[in-house]
Amino acid sequence: LASIPTEEAEVRRLDRAHVFHSWSAQAHIDPLPIVSAAGSYFTDYEGKRYLDFSSQLVNVNIGHQHPRMIQAIQDYAARMTTIQPGLANDARSEAARLISEVAGEGLNKVFFTNAGAEANENAIRMARLHTGRPKILAMYRSYHGATHGAIGLTGDPRRWGTEPHTVPGIVHFWGPYPYRSSFHSETPEQETERALAHLRDTIMVEGAQTIAGIILEPIVGTNGILVPPPGYLAGVREICDEHGILLISDEVMAGFGRAGEWFAIQHWGVRPDLISFAKGVNSGYLPLGGVVLSDAVAATFDDRVYPGGLTYSGHPLACASAVASIQIFKDEGIIENARRLGDEVIGPELAKLAEKHPSVGDVRGLGVFWAVELVRNRQTREPLVPYNASGADAKPMADFAAACKAGGVWPMTHFNRTHVVPPCTISEDEVREGLAILDLALDTTDTYYAE
Ligand code: PLP
Repeated sequence: LASIPTEEAEVRRLDRAHVFHSWSAQAHIDPLPIVSAAGSYFTDYEGKRYLDFSSQLVNVNIGHQHPRMIQAIQDYAARMTTIQPGLANDARSEAARLISEVAGEGLNKVFFTNAGAEANENAIRMARLHTGRPKILAMYRSYHGATHGAIGLTGDPRRWGTEPHTVPGIVHFWGPYPYRSSFHSETPEQETERALAHLRDTIMVEGAQTIAGIILEPIVGTNGILVPPPGYLAGVREICDEHGILLISDEVMAGFGRAGEWFAIQHWGVRPDLISFAKGVNSGYLPLGGVVLSDAVAATFDDRVYPGGLTYSGHPLACASAVASIQIFKDEGIIENARRLGDEVIGPELAKLAEKHPSVGDVRGLGVFWAVELVRNRQTREPLVPYNASGADAKPMADFAAACKAGGVWPMTHFNRTHVVPPCTISEDEVREGLAILDLALDTTDTYYAE
């Protein structure tokens, strides 16, 4: 490792000279160099510690540098770092068994990928081949990844730059969002009923017999932590069953403890036909994602070749870290911790912040998966910054993020929201410490409030 620079200035210089960053105008960014991380914190070169209220990209569910994870990776690396997917492997077999087990009944096979976008690419390929139908329905206000098919599924501005060059056959529809209902609903019950009626109408005019699958985030993640109102997901399942359409649950962000369940859809007792996962499966200690297949979908490929694969499908080292992660989750009650923090600490404390700060329009979430939606006026619900704001328009949110960082919390902000998405392993004291800093930072957003 002698050639890796140790000085901050050199790390920064090489980054600007040679690293091409995601989702960025390259000349307009200045990424902060980070030197280390542990538990719920990470540290920059000046020794400033940040409480990670973003879990990086909402993926470090087990916290940074969990010692048992590090040990498991080191142990497995000492034996075998890679073996191709056509050969069987103990870490891969066990990871698949454990993931099937937590997915529940009738979901017994796993196809491994490197991350979430590839998981969704394969999920829609499986749905199309299983049903023999061409179209996939996906929601507006969603994110499903940045490869060609996955960005086509995505229902947010990140899709715009690639359009129209995404895959054909994707149709978007509106999901429920009680705070900003597309259906003019005034109650969660109305929202469920009207969102399901809208989905039925969409299917009617698209032609049910042309639709292979409906993909959705059971709790919409980046686009607002939109917890579906009671009955919605069960209703979608019913509609799918009526028309022979597969239900694909994108659990890339919502899964593995984030929402206080192994998979968020389990919160409503709904069984999907395909589950895509990544992020929290091993907290990104190594790249890993995949698709869990129902027995019926898996059987389609018993005698028929599955036309898909990846050099690193089921990478042994990544799978070994997933095995370790799932065991640690069980041993340390991490799912229970996430659920308890949501119910007893984050939810009630955010409700207090909403009472105190006029600019907080709505708080919502489950587990360690919460959104604080900021507004300029509670009656009109005018967002603090416009949809997809950038530059000067986004200043109120940029100032808010800067205030959080100055206070020692790394926030996850998106449009007019800040998301409270710390590791599932965070302690109650750390949550309170972070929320106290958020409380101070919200004074900056209150200054934009107008009656
Ligand atoms: N699906 C959801 C719900 C996501 O949140 C993400 C990433 O944020 C993805 C898919 C894409 O995952 P990846 O970035 O690992 O390809």
